[in-house]
Amino acid sequence: MAVTRTFSIIKPDATRRNLTGVVTKMLEEAGLRVVASKRIHMSREQAEGFYAVHKERPFFGELVEFMMSEPVVVQVLEGEDAVKRNRDIMGATNPAEAEAGTIRKEHALSIGENTVHGSDSEENAKIEIDFFFNKEEIVG
Ligand code: ADP
Ligand code: MG
Repeated sequence: MAVTRTFSIIKPDATRRNLTGVVTKMLEEAGLRVVASKRIHMSREQAEGFYAVHKERPFFGELVEFMMSEPVVVQVLEGEDAVKRNRDIMGATNPAEAEAGTIRKEHALSIGENTVHGSDSEENAKIEIDFFFNKEEIVG
């Protein structure tokens, strides 16, 4: 299996509860390496642009407000089959449906305030990494 990259966000519900380290540790223990990381406060433009694919969904407005509400930590993660590995350790979108030991089962507050974002495909990983990082900021 090839070493690949994925994009992750530690969401406002987690930074607010001081869980940046706890979440990062779970990612690292799942075999992922943080090769880029920065704490940012998303603008409306960034939040709307990043989640443009969900524009028509009923929760879009709520999602954008949430992502702008507090700082987030955006990260590039590297590892074998990184996209799937990250999705596996994240757990299901709805924490009530997430498996034990996953980040969302252990830490998410609700289906909206669910602690982490992770790219859902290699193609989207590349787009999402480029949305937040320059080449120079990624050091593998
Ligand atoms: P995932 O983050 O697991 O890839 P989606 O791409 O379907 O999930 O949704 C993006 C984000 O939108 C979710 O992580 C969550 O924060 C929010 N969201 C999804 N479904 C709902 C919902 N029914 N109500 C409120 N927020 C939601
Ligand atoms: Mg998604």
